[in-house]
Amino acid sequence: MDDPGKALRVILFPLPFQGHINPMIQLANILHSRGFTISIIHTHFNSPDPSKYPHLTFHLIPDGLSEDQESKFDVLRLLHLLNANCIGPFRECLEKLMSAHDDIACIITDALLFCSKDVAQDLGIHRIVLRTSSVCSFLAFATVPLLQGKGYYSNNNLDSRREDPVLELPPLRVKDIPSIQRRNPNDALKILRNTVEATKAASGLIFNTFPDLEEPNHPNLHEHFRIPTFLVGPFHKFFSSASSSLLTQDRSAITWLDTQKPDSVLYVSFGSLVKMDEKNLIEMAWGLANSMQPFLWAVRPGLVQGSEWLESLPIEFLEVTGKRGYIVKWAPQQEVLSHPSVGGFWTHSGWNSVLESICEGVPMICSSFLGDQMVNSRYLNDVWKLGIKLENGFEKEEIESAIRKLMLDREGQEIRERLVCLKEKMDVSLKTDGFSSRSLNALSDLISSFKSSSGF
Ligand code: UDP
Repeated sequence: MDDPGKALRVILFPLPFQGHINPMIQLANILHSRGFTISIIHTHFNSPDPSKYPHLTFHLIPDGLSEDQESKFDVLRLLHLLNANCIGPFRECLEKLMSAHDDIACIITDALLFCSKDVAQDLGIHRIVLRTSSVCSFLAFATVPLLQGKGYYSNNNLDSRREDPVLELPPLRVKDIPSIQRRNPNDALKILRNTVEATKAASGLIFNTFPDLEEPNHPNLHEHFRIPTFLVGPFHKFFSSASSSLLTQDRSAITWLDTQKPDSVLYVSFGSLVKMDEKNLIEMAWGLANSMQPFLWAVRPGLVQGSEWLESLPIEFLEVTGKRGYIVKWAPQQEVLSHPSVGGFWTHSGWNSVLESICEGVPMICSSFLGDQMVNSRYLNDVWKLGIKLENGFEKEEIESAIRKLMLDREGQEIRERLVCLKEKMDVSLKTDGFSSRSLNALSDLISSFKSSSGF
């Protein structure tokens, strides 16, 4: 018989990418602090370090990835392989846990691990989905089949249509539609479709975001996902993501920032997945140099295709910028953004980066490369007006002008003022009776209710 006083167990299954591990571990900590027992099923690839979380239990499953597949880090291919390879081991591990514990309430899986849907259905366990990005970008994902049906993905005249508005999804332009820029978008579209369909079949949907940011899209969620939804972010306001960093964060970045003037430094980072070519890196470098502003640049090894690290940067760039610039491989990002010397963030518009920047009141320059980033950057520029989007990709003149606008002009100041207002609303949302906190209560209640109902 169940012990009524015993904590309920929730089993989490994160997608093993940095931008997905961070929020899942934060959610694990949040639910643990709410009294749940947490087990995490994880792959060998990008495995979290269990020794950092003695209060959580970890269960390793084989992911079947070869060294070559891991090192190539082709995001779409990895998504396909992880879903195909993990379905059996995930089922086996879950079955074992279900026979060993009578306290399991549900599983929470990353939305992109859509293979978990069939496993949960077969084993008769409730599944909640964590979507680690914005509501607006997930609505764009859900609208892709409609856009496909209307011919948006036909290759005819795509170049001439790039700037056209998408009437079905304002304020997006054709170039912002998920995966539209891919030469062969079919693989990406299949993953989007599977993700959305598997989410529709879940018992609940969690977002790491907050409603003041997501209005007016938040109410539209129910048109696509007729399941309970929970906006409980920003997660990192409850627990930092520093401990789940897969790469070593170079703390000399903070020592260097300590020597700089308040609000003077532009922090530049494109997260953990983006890959760019050498030509764009060089345009980036000259945009930074010509702007004459101090910068801290996180250049992740592997960022530039075919390069180990900084080989493709021209010597003249390093000479011209001298002590005005500081380059690290990986930064303690949350700490960097909260440092008084940082006055701007040139980001790839990854959702964790966007939230971390908003929480520290740092205005953004927005690039975008894949997945949800195009939608996030469009909203940052056109709707929320918290960032300046680089519309032409990587052109040193546009980059220089955007940096000056952000760091020196009225435009940057106005963004800072908007961020102050938004932060106040976010703080209210996180208070005990605020939206995010109430949403978290409702999520805890839903999870607790599962134990009394069997299956789904
Ligand atoms: N990050 C970091 N150091 C860096 C760059 C990024 O710690 O030099 C962290 C950042 O704080 C964020 C995560 O890595 O939590 C990146 O997630 P995001 O969603 O922004 O982008 P992704 O890596 O998924 O593209």
